[in-house]
Amino acid sequence: MQVVSEPTTEEVRAEVRGWLEAHWDDDRPLVQWRSLLADSGWAVPQWPVEWFGKGYTAVLAQVVAEELRAFGAVGTPVGAAMSLAAPTLLAHGSAELKQRFLRRILTGEDRWCQLFSEPTNGSDLAGLMTRAERDGDEWVVSGQKVWTTGARSADFAMLLARTDWDAPKHRGITYFVLPMHQPGVEVRPLRQMNGHASFNEVFLTEARVPPGHVVGAVNAGWGVALTTLAHERGLGALRLVSVEGWREGRTAREARAEAEEHARTYAWYPQRAGRPDLLAERSREAGATAPQRQLVADVVARNRVAAWNVERSRAATSRGRQPGPEGSLAKLAGSDIARRSARAHGSLAGAHALLAGPDSLLGGVISEILVSVPAGSIAGGTDEIQHNIVGERALGLPKEPSVDADLPFRQVRTNAPSR
Ligand SMILES: Cc1cc2nc3c(=O)[nH]c(=O)nc-3n(C[C@H](O)[C@H](O)[C@H](O)COP(=O)(O)OP(=O)(O)OC[C@H]3O[C@@H](n4cnc5c(N)ncnc54)[C@H](O)[C@@H]3O)c2cc1C
Repeated sequence: MQVVSEPTTEEVRAEVRGWLEAHWDDDRPLVQWRSLLADSGWAVPQWPVEWFGKGYTAVLAQVVAEELRAFGAVGTPVGAAMSLAAPTLLAHGSAELKQRFLRRILTGEDRWCQLFSEPTNGSDLAGLMTRAERDGDEWVVSGQKVWTTGARSADFAMLLARTDWDAPKHRGITYFVLPMHQPGVEVRPLRQMNGHASFNEVFLTEARVPPGHVVGAVNAGWGVALTTLAHERGLGALRLVSVEGWREGRTAREARAEAEEHARTYAWYPQRAGRPDLLAERSREAGATAPQRQLVADVVARNRVAAWNVERSRAATSRGRQPGPEGSLAKLAGSDIARRSARAHGSLAGAHALLAGPDSLLGGVISEILVSVPAGSIAGGTDEIQHNIVGERALGLPKEPSVDADLPFRQVRTNAPSR
């Protein structure tokens, strides 16, 4: 990585402002604007200089983000492409893959999903059964994935598939970039208990992976997957976009349409986090009792501390460090706060919390909180798995006993059909 000397905060502010004044045009097509932003290094200043960044620290990158917001400029898109695929490709992708995909992720032209979990392999991801076989320069993939968020709108997938059945389970997996628009990929939506359908089953039947689309080395996909998972845990990855404050014109209109499309998948994610932001107002409206106020204060305090921990995790990653167990701690704190917040909302709302639909309390938001919160303890690795990670990697406790980690995968007993 090229090393650059660090400018001061004020120098950065002045430079970004000057650049925005010179380049912003209200009516530029969104992709064209984001291309300019990517080439200038201001889109992702924390990335390396050779890949659209400036090699800045988290603090300086934050300064740039503040200036973009204050100016009213549209920034990079949000979603799995930006928060999971991009950092994984940056850490492990070949120059060809980075060249091919990073710019289109920054401009929002390509959307991505994560084809990791399978019907029998979620927590035990390394036991996955989807198979990839070489066919000349290409790979042919067959199997089934499930709980794939955003698969219907994705152009590409981060795919894990087994490529060596005679190696131990962690050492026979390869990480691929799979084009989703092809006959061998069938996506079927799943309906959730909160009424939304943000994730899907994905059936792969001789789907084809083009040459050069292996991330890292063949059979070394587990290490690459850990990078994706660490980013997923740490960073509250799939947040919604704030569409407020943009300078009006074609760029903002196109960005707003993109945000609406994105929100169709993620509209319930704030409810999944328990909506601690609504608690103070709800307490006032409901005339909270002293025990209810205790519940609310507890959640608000925990939420504040958790936000600082997420900042710590962000700071670590943007300094070039791979996110570590602090991601697991942040994720555990998030699901704990969500549950406590749901309990406080339930207490304040009483029986009204059970009513759904537009004419119920807060237009159904409270009942949506109650049925969405459990997802946070499952998605991106369950609470129990995070406890294992913290125990082993942060506290140095002995590893979980394993009966199959060293066996050739072909000999591992499972309830799946023949290999
Ligand atoms: C909202 C949401 C979005 C998702 N999006 C995606 C996506 O885009 N792509 C994708 O690939 N997957 C996605 N998932 C799937 C998610 O990663 C899995 O659901 C998760 O890893 C758990 O796997 P599982 O559902 O198979 O549960 P299981 O692994 O079957 O776990 C069942 C229970 O056993 C416990 N358990 C299992 N193993 C252990 C252990 N070793 N120690 C202690 N307890 C254990 C678990 O904690 C859990 O309570 C999503 C899930 C949700 C809820």
